[in-house]
Amino acid sequence: MPEHTETGFEERARAWLAEQAPRHGWAAQGGRDRGVRDEAEYLKRAKECQALLFDNGFAGISWPTEYGGQGLGIREQILFNVASLDYDLPLGPYIIGLGMCGPTVLAVGTEEQKQRYIRPMLRGEEVWCQLFSEPGAGSDVAGLSSRAVLDGDEWVLNGQKIWTSGAQYCDYGIVIARTDPDVPKHKGITMFILDLHAPGVTLRRITQIDGGAHFNEVFFDDVRIPAENVLGGVGNGWLAATTTLANERVSLGAVRAMNDTPSAEDLIGRAREMGRSDDPVLRQKLVDLWLQERTVGLLGDRITSAILRGQTPGPEGSVAKLVRTDHARLSARLGAELAGPAATAWGRGSDDGQWAATLLFVPSLSIAGGTDEVLRNIIGERVLGLPKEPQVDRDVPFRELTGKAGR
Ligand SMILES: Cc1cc2nc3c(=O)[nH]c(=O)nc-3n(C[C@H](O)[C@H](O)[C@H](O)COP(=O)(O)OP(=O)(O)OC[C@H]3O[C@@H](n4cnc5c(N)ncnc54)[C@H](O)[C@@H]3O)c2cc1C
Repeated sequence: MPEHTETGFEERARAWLAEQAPRHGWAAQGGRDRGVRDEAEYLKRAKECQALLFDNGFAGISWPTEYGGQGLGIREQILFNVASLDYDLPLGPYIIGLGMCGPTVLAVGTEEQKQRYIRPMLRGEEVWCQLFSEPGAGSDVAGLSSRAVLDGDEWVLNGQKIWTSGAQYCDYGIVIARTDPDVPKHKGITMFILDLHAPGVTLRRITQIDGGAHFNEVFFDDVRIPAENVLGGVGNGWLAATTTLANERVSLGAVRAMNDTPSAEDLIGRAREMGRSDDPVLRQKLVDLWLQERTVGLLGDRITSAILRGQTPGPEGSVAKLVRTDHARLSARLGAELAGPAATAWGRGSDDGQWAATLLFVPSLSIAGGTDEVLRNIIGERVLGLPKEPQVDRDVPFRELTGKAGR
């Protein structure tokens, strides 16, 4: 694996991408889960891409070298992320593993866990997912009921998760479960590294309104987890989970998700091609879209500069995600409006066939990674200084909460 230094990193990254992208068809091919029909082929392409990044020193750019990373700064990682936005790298199955699970293992994992799991994750050989949400615990994830009980040197896990993105591709996941129901809900949770191929783990696909099946229900029936797979210490699962979720909100709000719907520039170009750029109502909407894009861009810069100064980004991640979601809604609506009746076509094979699927996909953005309402609560409390939401169950032992006894 070539070793990079900070000097000239961006030039090298851009040159490498410019050479490799046409060779591997990354610029032309869609790389996201939505609309993917041949999943085996999709996963194969993703694994090839991630292995190539690793072999050429572009995986784990800011992660420590002793675990297979490049040991460079977060600045170089951001430079690479921005350069790769010009291409459609087929890396969908790794978004959660490398964006959330890896940073969590690095932050709270033991030395043995980092040695065992980080390198194969970076090489793309082992794919990871995040198993937090349950049917009765989404926004209030600390109210989860999946239960893990210690039996000798193994934990026995029972319960159910839901909305687990990409679990069908995965080998491992980070899962949170209740290990002590006699303390308040945030305190009795433990995070584990879960082998998704272990006996007792059952996946059931969830078909979405846009025809894809990106999520899963995951059931645990007496799943045995070795004690050394506890991540971050018994009872510290809430702290570990907040590390994971902070990474999620920042990445969803700032750079990556911006790619899911067309940009203002794309749509302005399309309006020009159609001879509609003089339409005053359409122009107004396009300007609104452009302004939202600028706002997300500036918030992204603010988050980036906080990270570069060694600070943990604050509520600006929530603000960016909220504006980004509005942007996606408006962009999908405007795209469909410009396509006219052709927007009712179905299938990503044609230019217009994408609109129906995009319109159906966009509402999920206002739920994933924190719903709009929950983000507004965070902004109200942490930016505007409004009173905190009442949390009547915060200090009550979990066992005493109605309907939340755990299994
Ligand atoms: C695309 C996508 C990918 C996802 N991927 C994953 C994944 O990989 N792993 C995983 O664990 N989960 C995943 N999720 C689940 C996601 O985290 C939850 O859907 C989300 O946390 C909301 O939980 P919920 O669906 O249970 O809704 P609920 O929390 O039940 O919310 C229902 C409604 O009540 C509102 N509400 C809830 N609490 C409050 C409050 N305090 N104040 C005001 N309004 C409130 C919400 O805004 C919402 O409108 C994914 C979801 C989506 C859409």
